[in-house]
Amino acid sequence: MNRAPSDVSAPPAWDYDRLVAVARRHGTPVHVLDVRRLDRAAEHLLDALGALARPVRAYYSVKTNYLPYLCRRLAGHGMGADVVSGYELEAALAAGFPPSETVFNGPVKTEDELAAALRHGVRVNIDAEHEIDMLERLAAQAGRTVEVGLRISPGTPVSTSSDPSYRAQAERAARRNRFGWPAGSPQLARLVERIAECPHLSLTAVHAHLSSQIVHHDLMLGALERVLDEAQDLHRRFGLREVNIGGGFGVPGIRRPRSGPLSALWSLQGGDPVPDEEPVLDLASLLSDVDKQMQDRGLDGVALACEPGRWLVSDAMAMVTRVMSRKELPEANWLILDGGNNMAPWAGTGEVHRLVPLGRAFSPVSRNWSVAGPLCYENDIHAAAVDLPDDIGVGDLLCLHDTGAYSLGRSNNFIRTRGPVVAVDGDREEVVWRAETTADVFHLADPGRQVSTGAPS
Ligand SMILES: *Cc1c(COP(=O)(O)O)cnc(C)c1O
Repeated sequence: MNRAPSDVSAPPAWDYDRLVAVARRHGTPVHVLDVRRLDRAAEHLLDALGALARPVRAYYSVKTNYLPYLCRRLAGHGMGADVVSGYELEAALAAGFPPSETVFNGPVKTEDELAAALRHGVRVNIDAEHEIDMLERLAAQAGRTVEVGLRISPGTPVSTSSDPSYRAQAERAARRNRFGWPAGSPQLARLVERIAECPHLSLTAVHAHLSSQIVHHDLMLGALERVLDEAQDLHRRFGLREVNIGGGFGVPGIRRPRSGPLSALWSLQGGDPVPDEEPVLDLASLLSDVDKQMQDRGLDGVALACEPGRWLVSDAMAMVTRVMSRKELPEANWLILDGGNNMAPWAGTGEVHRLVPLGRAFSPVSRNWSVAGPLCYENDIHAAAVDLPDDIGVGDLLCLHDTGAYSLGRSNNFIRTRGPVVAVDGDREEVVWRAETTADVFHLADPGRQVSTGAPS
């Protein structure tokens, strides 16, 4: 199938009539998964990787959205999985991701989890000294040599701002980052020696994952170059099979506030510290640049792997909510919805997503609204100030866009039970995660109920 490159930055419009129909049938709040948008993102990624003249791998970052239907669909596209716990490993294997195409990452891995990874043939990317000892012992017990990777961090920021105080803060945060081991550091060199001394471990992969929602091509590439420099040295010595650049690829439609001291001052003075115009990251061009950098460093024949989460799923889901209360106060106009931080937990001051009123013709006159969820705490806010129709009111529907990433897995049942997820695929419609009941919430407290150990078998 041939796709025009312009497709990448311009996904097809959502069918809002369909969203209204789903909300009428299944109630609100409801997440709607558009299966075709998901397929389209997966195909774009695989096309971009397939255009490179080297072995490639795509590991879907399972924590971004655990929905079994979505995981099975991505596994069906031939993707592998990136998991960061034993519980995620169980979910990934159940969804059909092949263990040989699955990587186990994360800052904490228990001995049971490592044993399960080894049993299934899932590669571990080491991020702690202690993991080396545990893996060596487990591999020796199994009488095998196992391939391992090592997580490296570049120590340089991947986001920027016109606010110099923000940049200084971002640089410090990058140097203090606890995920991975800094490229070029003596600590990293020591870890490499420890792995080299283990007779049952073979260092064959380098792993990096920089951050999330990165939109600056040059900053991301520059950070990855530091990782690739390290990979070049390790390749000469050990013969690497894979360089995994992680995920973090940013998507359009999400605004994140900058939190430097100057930004805080500006916002106190009424300015908006959230940049309106962020660049759109072109994933195909980034991958092709990384490929070139790998070539320049003699990393021919080494696979280029990535672990996208948000980039694959963010736009594939939207949430339909209903306005439950309209409050006009002396200094604020509030719309209070039936879905908030429980269903879209990045809300509050974290991220601002697009809100679109649905279901009828609205007044062309708009006014500035503050939009909140239904929970009883300050931060359950979708937007502090957003222009929406003047006549929007109780009973009207609003679509919150880009809820595919970090909604379901991080959702919670504080104060309200969660709504369902409905998958739409052309004319087909299926409840793929049912609405939660009070009994669901309290079943863990049932006396006599067996508690799972959580260890994957
Ligand atoms: C969360 C995570 C990802 C995915 O991040 P996105 O920003 O959603 O692409 C990839 N790799 C690792 C190790 C992660 O922890």
